Amino acid sequence: MKSLYSLNLKEAEGIMESLEAPKYRAAQLLRWLYRVHVRSWDELKNIPKDLRDKLAEKYFLASLELAEEYENAKNPTTKYLFKTHDGHFLESVLIRQGDRKTVCVSTQLGCRVRCPFCASGKSGFFRNLTAGEIIEQIAWIVRKSHCQITNVVFMGMGEPLDNFDEVMKALEILTAPWGFEMGGRKITVSTSGVPEKIYEFVKRTDGRIRLSVSLHSPFDETRSRLIPYNRKYPLKALLATLYKIHEDLKRDITFEYTLIDGMNDSEEDAKAVAKIARPLQAKINLIPYNPIREITWKAPSEEKMKHFRSILEKEKVRSTFRKTAGQEVEGACGQLRLDRVTRR
Ligand code: SAH
Ligand code: SF4
Repeated sequence: MKSLYSLNLKEAEGIMESLEAPKYRAAQLLRWLYRVHVRSWDELKNIPKDLRDKLAEKYFLASLELAEEYENAKNPTTKYLFKTHDGHFLESVLIRQGDRKTVCVSTQLGCRVRCPFCASGKSGFFRNLTAGEIIEQIAWIVRKSHCQITNVVFMGMGEPLDNFDEVMKALEILTAPWGFEMGGRKITVSTSGVPEKIYEFVKRTDGRIRLSVSLHSPFDETRSRLIPYNRKYPLKALLATLYKIHEDLKRDITFEYTLIDGMNDSEEDAKAVAKIARPLQAKINLIPYNPIREITWKAPSEEKMKHFRSILEKEKVRSTFRKTAGQEVEGACGQLRLDRVTRR
C-alpha cells in the first residue's frame, strides 16, 4: 500500500476520478495532508465518510510511527526516531536557532556510499525511502513540535541523489502551492557527488533548490578514502560537472568540508580547496568531525580549524563554520539509528 503523503495534485485528482468523487476533493485532501498534517482518517472532516473508507482500502493515511524522541536540554535540537511500516528505523532532527527552524530529513534506510566517518553507512543499506516517507518526517515534526518550519535540509541518512525520483517528488511537494509552499532557497540537498545526477538535479529544479556538495578533500587519494564513491566519480569528473553548472546554469554551489585531524586539515589542503572553490565562487561550509563510536579519528583543535579558515579567507574564498551544537547534530544524523540497530 502507498502512503497518501506521496501524492501530487495530479495524482490526487486521478484518484478522485477513479473513485467517482468530484475533482475538488483532491485539493481538500492535500490541504489536510500538507497543511494540517493529519494522522487519522477521522481528522479529514470535510471528506465524506464513504470516500474516506474507499481511500483507506487502498492507501495508508500515514505510514511512519514515532518510536522515540530525544530532547537535548543544552542544544536547541530534538532528534526523532521513526519506525517504517516494514520495521526499519530512520531519524530526523529539528534544529531551532531563533526564528530559523530547520528539519534535517533522511532519504534512505542506510547508505550505499559507506563513508567510514559516517554512521549512516555503517549498518548497511536496506532500501530507498519513498517521497511519502520523506514528507511524513517533516509533517510529523511540525505536528509534534508545533514549530513553523522555515528550512529543510536533506542531510540525514542516505545519499539523496541515489534516490533521485523520490527526492524530486518530495521537493515537488515541499515547493508546490498545493503542498508546503516553501521557497526553494529554504531547502538544501547535500550530496557526496554523483556527477551526472548533480547536473540533472540542478537542471530539473532550475537551480531553485540549494545544492551542497561534500568535498572533504581536494585530493583524490584522501577523498576516495573518505568518500568511496570518489573512486567511481573522481574529483576531475565531479569538478567538470560543477564548472559546467556554474557556466551553463549560473548557479551557486556550497561545499561541505568535514575537518578531521591530520587527514584533511593541512595548509596544503586549504590552499588546494581554495583553488577548487574560487573559480566556482563557491562557499565552504566547514564542519568539525563529530566522532562516531567505531572510529578513532577526531576533529582538529580549535586553533587548527581557525588557521584552515584563515587560509581560505586569504585566498578570497568565503566560508562558514558549522559550530553550534545544534548544527553539529546535522552531521551526526544517522547515529541515533546506529545506536538502535547495534543495541538490538
Ligand atoms: N549523503 C549526503 C547527505 C547526508 S550527510 C552527503 O554525504 O553529502 C550530510 C553531511 O554530513 C555530509 O557532508 C557528511 O559528509 C557529513 N557527515 C557525516 N557524518 C559526519 C560526522 N561524523 N562528522 C561530521 N560530518 C559528518
Ligand atoms: Fe552516505 Fe553521506 Fe554518510 Fe557518506 S556521508 S555514508 S554519502 S550519508
